[in-house]
Amino acid sequence: MQLVDEIIEKSDGKLCRHCLGRMLSKSIDGEDNVSRAESLDLDLDFNECVICDNIFDKIDDELFGKIYDKLVFLEVEFDSFVVGSRIPKEVQQRDEEFIKDLDLDVEPIKKEINRIIGKELENTLKKEVNFEKQDIIVNVNLIKNPKVRVQINPIFIEGKYNKLVRGIPQTKWPCGKCKGRGCEECNFTGKQYPCSVEELISEHVLKATKGYEAKFHGAGREDIDVLMLGSGRPFVLEIKEPRIRKIDLEKLEKEINEINEGKTQYHGLKFCERKRKAEIKVSSPDAYKVYRALVKCEEAYDKDKLVALKDLGEIHQQTPIRVSHRRADKVRIKHVLDLSYEIIDDTSFEMTIKTEGGLYIKELISGDEGRSNPNVAEKLGVKAICEKLDVIEVSEK
Ligand SMILES: [Zn+2]
Ligand SMILES: [Zn+2]
Repeated sequence: MQLVDEIIEKSDGKLCRHCLGRMLSKSIDGEDNVSRAESLDLDLDFNECVICDNIFDKIDDELFGKIYDKLVFLEVEFDSFVVGSRIPKEVQQRDEEFIKDLDLDVEPIKKEINRIIGKELENTLKKEVNFEKQDIIVNVNLIKNPKVRVQINPIFIEGKYNKLVRGIPQTKWPCGKCKGRGCEECNFTGKQYPCSVEELISEHVLKATKGYEAKFHGAGREDIDVLMLGSGRPFVLEIKEPRIRKIDLEKLEKEINEINEGKTQYHGLKFCERKRKAEIKVSSPDAYKVYRALVKCEEAYDKDKLVALKDLGEIHQQTPIRVSHRRADKVRIKHVLDLSYEIIDDTSFEMTIKTEGGLYIKELISGDEGRSNPNVAEKLGVKAICEKLDVIEVSEK
């Protein structure tokens, strides 16, 4: 066979069974590259390889021993995995050149290495290689003395939360003075607020999964002094490096809600894909929110004017002063979709308002020094502020 002759000539007969078989993988039948090479009945000793420097000899019992030790040490629970490897750059280059010079369409050497290790692990551990989605990645470094590193992929849990008391931020809030390092001001906690919607769930999930770190991704957020009522606000909790992946979410949800009774509640916890993290942050054009606001006027207001609030309609809202340090200064156009009110006394009333997401309600009421137009204070002809605010519904997308 002409190709065999070309390969032998180019390598001076110095190839290992793996590399020879791999070069012939599209031309000769065989169960694997080694059996392809052996089927040729060539007068070669295969002891020296000009492509890989006999790197395949490093895939031995000692290497597998290191992998098993690592998995035992980490006590990691997994069903699926992939193998990744690092090999000397020269080996990779020589392999690429060889393939290119002979104009072959065969797999690169790394793929064969990963497959050989993966197959052995599948057999011994009774776990499955899955390229699409895997619980862990077994990284093998074959550059010098083989080293093994195991990467544990995160898990994602989605649900909805309620915030039943004021004064709790959605996510961990570093101390304003020490920026989280810990100082006298924050009692060396590094935190501005003792707890958050995030921490009140994540500490329990971290414990149950033996995870390293949690990240909370909310579908928007409410201010610290705003309640989140109704069916709740969607969120995704990401648990990094969980050593336990199979947890009873229903049971955990119950426990967490009992512990946090009267503070925060979490509903419908379920495992989800990574992509949900981004999806819940993008609101669809017909997403809406419903708020309940207690409006306090500086002086008695004209009750006949309340009806005019019903046609607030299109609001041109410039970025509020209080958030201008973290959000781009621009005018956003948002619509009030529905509004009703209930008179409390001469200077206050309660307003239920349905709007497109992203409208700032406190500023819609006060007018924010003319930055929100039209606004509640202007319609009533008196100065007004939002004294209390609750989110009572966040729409499903
Ligand atoms: Zn080789
Ligand atoms: Zn501090």
